[in-house]
Parts: sequence; C-alpha cells; structure tokens
Amino acid sequence: MDFERPGHMAGRRGPRERDSRRGRGRDATDVAAHVAKVIDSHDPELLSDYMANENPLSWAKRNVYIQQYGSDRFVPFTIFGEYQFPFLYEIYRFFNQRARHIHGVVMKPVQMAVTTLALNVTYYFVLRMHQNSLYTLPVEGGQIGQFTHNRIDVQIENSPGLRSRFTSISNVGLKKAGSNAIYLRGMQSTAKLEEMPVGLVVRDELDRMNIEVADQAHDRLQGNLFDWKLDLSHPTSPGEGIAYLWDISSRGEWMWECPHCGAWQAPDWKENVDIENERFFCADCGETVDKADLLGTKADGAARYVHDDKDSPIRGWHFSQLLSPVRPLRQQIQQWNEAQGHPAKIKRFFNGVLGLPWAETGEKLTVETVHEMMQGNPTMRMDYRGGALGIDVGAGLHGWILDGKECVKVFHVGQWSDIDYYIKTYQPEIMVIDAEPEHHKALEYATSWTAKDLPSYVCRRTGGHADNKSVEHPVRTPGHERAGTITVNFTEQFDDFYAELRGSASQNIPAWTLPSDLPDEAVEHLCAPTRVQIETKQGTRGGWKKGINHFCDAAMYAMEGQEILERRRGLTEARPSSLTKKSQFLEHERPKRSRK
Ligand SMILES: [Zn+2]
Repeated sequence: MDFERPGHMAGRRGPRERDSRRGRGRDATDVAAHVAKVIDSHDPELLSDYMANENPLSWAKRNVYIQQYGSDRFVPFTIFGEYQFPFLYEIYRFFNQRARHIHGVVMKPVQMAVTTLALNVTYYFVLRMHQNSLYTLPVEGGQIGQFTHNRIDVQIENSPGLRSRFTSISNVGLKKAGSNAIYLRGMQSTAKLEEMPVGLVVRDELDRMNIEVADQAHDRLQGNLFDWKLDLSHPTSPGEGIAYLWDISSRGEWMWECPHCGAWQAPDWKENVDIENERFFCADCGETVDKADLLGTKADGAARYVHDDKDSPIRGWHFSQLLSPVRPLRQQIQQWNEAQGHPAKIKRFFNGVLGLPWAETGEKLTVETVHEMMQGNPTMRMDYRGGALGIDVGAGLHGWILDGKECVKVFHVGQWSDIDYYIKTYQPEIMVIDAEPEHHKALEYATSWTAKDLPSYVCRRTGGHADNKSVEHPVRTPGHERAGTITVNFTEQFDDFYAELRGSASQNIPAWTLPSDLPDEAVEHLCAPTRVQIETKQGTRGGWKKGINHFCDAAMYAMEGQEILERRRGLTEARPSSLTKKSQFLEHERPKRSRK
C-alpha cells in the first residue's frame, strides 16, 4: 500500500497541519445533534426558535418524502435517521433564508446524497422563497426527462407537502408552483438558454457539462434580488471544472478527531485505511477507529468542516466516500484492488470514491517516449493467437491487436473484407469497431463476425452524459445475431487511453509494450492528439484535439475490447454458473487461445 497523492493536492493536509488542529472545536456536531433533537422533540417552542433560522434541511424535513433505502416506502426526509449524513449539514445550512448572493461548491464522490440536497435546496427556493430555479444537468436537451421522471416527479407525487403546491408537473422541463417554477435544462447543446429570470442555478455534475453552456446558465442570475449558485460534481483533473472552483473557494475539508489521541485529520485512503485488515485507523496513534468516528456521530465524537480560506466569496466543501453511511469499506477496498495495474481505474477511484482530482494525464506524448515503449516482439509473428482487435474507420481501415498491455499487430487496409485475413490469422477473442462515419457498414461487419463466433461491438463516442460507460453485449443466438454497442464519453476515453498507454510512475504501473517495428505512421498517430484546456471566464475544462490519429483510435477500440475480456475473465472466475442474460456471449466460450 504505497502511493502519492496526485498533483497539487500533495501537502495540503500534512501532519503538521493536522497537529495544529488538534483539540479545536466540537461545535458543528454538537449543533447537529442538538438540531436533530429539537426537530425530533416536536416541542413547539424549540421549533419556533429553530424556524427563525430555517434552511432547506429543516424545511425538507417537514415537506419532502424520500424513498427509504432498500424499500419502496416513502418516508419523511432526514439526514440524521437510520443512516447519518452529518457532512451535509453545514451545506444545507449555508443556503438559508437570510442568504442573498451566495455560491456553494461541492467537490464530491459519487452516491453521497448530494443531488438530493440540491433538489431540496431547489424545492425550498421555489416554494419557501417564492423564486424561480434553474436546475441543470450534463445531458442533451431531450434526455432531461429521465431525471425528471425518476427523481422529481416521483418525489413530488409521494410528498404531500410538495404535491399540494406544485400545480403542474406534466412538462418535463418545467415544474410550476403558482407563479414560480423549477426549470430543468440539459447543458450539452450550444443552443442559447431562453431568457428566464431565476434566482438559483444548480449545476449538477458540472465536470460533464459543456463548459460554455454551463457558463451561460449563470448569466440568467443577473439582476435578480437573489443569486444563489450551487455547483456539485465529482472532480476530474486538477485545475479543471469543480476542482478549479474548489481551489478558489474556502476549501472546506471534513475533519475528524481521533477518540484515542485527539488528533484532527481528514479521512484519507492512505493514512486511515488498513486494506489487509479492512479497518480504519488513526494516522497519528495508529489505533483502530470506525466509521462513526470519521462521521463524528458518537456521543463524545467530533467531526466538522475546516475551511482553509475563510475570506473566499465561494464556499467549498470536499469529503470522501469513506464517510458513506451505506457503502461498506469492503466495497471500496474491492474497487481499489480491482483498479490495480490500471491507471484509468485508479483515476476513477480518486475521482469517484475519494472525490479528488487525478493528475497523471498531462503533456503531449513525444516520438521519443513512444520509441522507448517499442521494446516488444516484432509484428511479423504469424503464430500469435488471441487478444482484442480494434478497428478505426476513416481514410481506409486501421487495425490494432492488443493483448493485455502488449500491442501485437497493427495494419491498414482499404476494404472491409480485407480485415478477414487478420481475424483468421490472429484469431482475436473480441473485436471493437468505430461506429462512425460508416455506422451501417460497421454494424453489418460486426454482426457478421458475431455470427461466426467472434463477439464484436461497435463503439460510439458522445460528448455528453455517459455516467458509466454503457455496454450492450452482442446477441449470439443462432439466427438472431446482433453486434454489441459500447457508448463512451469522448474526453474520458482519450484520458483513459493515454493513462493506460503511459502507465503510472507513482503507482508503479508499467506502460504498454509496443512492437519494435511499429510503423512510423502509427508512432505519429499516437503522438497527434493534444490534451487542451478550454478556458472560459469561470474556469477551465479538459478536452482533446485529435489531429490525424487513426492507429491511435484503433488502439482505443482495442483497449475497450480488452476491458470487456478482462471483466469477462473476472466473471468467469468469480461466478462460473451464474451468468446473466446480458452476458450471454459468455456461454459460447471460444477455444482457449494458444500462444507459443
Ligand atoms: Zn489517534
């Protein structure tokens, strides 16, 4: 267990800083416990006192019902119920009835009830403050319906306090309550947002949005009596998107106090998690602690946000999924173990589980670096069998065969039927073809090979919301064969590819091995893409300029195929007899590949 915190995060929370915080304040959790007691007491006097400082939390507790974890029942909302989310308390309180011009930034891991918080703030703002809200998501305009139906409509219908006040919810992009409304918009299309006066703008999953459109959303606040901004997202790379905003914010970090030695510390994967024994421990004294210590929910426990720059006009919060009241540490350790050897998965662990940006992408690949990677066997071997074949379409057809981290063959042909020779000779275990620009042709070719027992996919890149990469496996039932489909986010695929290709020095993960005779053209194609930062007045976002990179694209499709092969092997090992319908191609195992 040895790794460095990536990039600029290093050193922000060293032991010295922790020591200086030793013994400071227990106030936030005390207040949290007090408030929970007041609300639960139903004591009218205590309650009216509390109402004077009403915020979306106390309001939601009376008006919003949420689906109970693991059941169909809807129960009154709380963050101090069976599952405790004390790290959301300060954020809820920030958006209170006295606030006028505020900006809150939550740099968060996935699945920590922050979207629920954003919706509660939105309901509160419309129904209690009688103002319009704009809730934005990183989807194409037409895809907003899914979120509206699954999250908002269901909640309104099951919450008496909401149902009686929202007069019209049939429109997916507009939820009206008297003369005020929630507007819901997707932030991918560059079409201008219509002129609508709003006082609250929520940008949910900011790092997946088209940044120019996301900027325009804030223009809608101009001249309003209220201007409340709430940005939430998992981070991606340092200095980009939510990480940029968090850097210029107050930088609130959730800290907890060790019950044994009193040291204050932020929950940290390296310093607080014992992977082998599945336990939390104190970074200072080494004693075993548990999640309730990290959350500060024990009677004599203490935990709260510590803000680095209290003068910043933006309030920022960061916390890790280690605090999740519903996800056990075991799951996170499993995810960490599965990520080993894969820089792209480690990045996802940092972003999605620790809520931290990950630095190791970076500068353009040079010809010299590629030459250093060309230590593999030459491609002339005809005895090779297996691996994943990726095909790029455009300027002919470019092929790349990858086995594990080794490129074993590249080729360039003119006709689809020319690929047959390479499939028959090298017998790959899986094929992934670029879905554009010849979608029909690609699908037809992939289907014909699926029918001949080579599971094949077409890969579609989107600029939009691809929450998790989606994979639809091929159907191999005789007479009903169909190719599979992989849908990926363009920027994420490029980030993943270069992370995997280059390996990770800090994680001791080797780079790919390229054949010693890799053609110059392929070397050029690998070096063509440039990672760029798109800058706007409100921050930066990462992206890629492709250049001419056909072999590189083919390698990316091979990488997607390799990932499916690895998952499939993992599945086969882990659950030999419980194959789901979705992975039905697993039932038609190809003969074991042989390799001399
Ligand atoms: Zn300790």
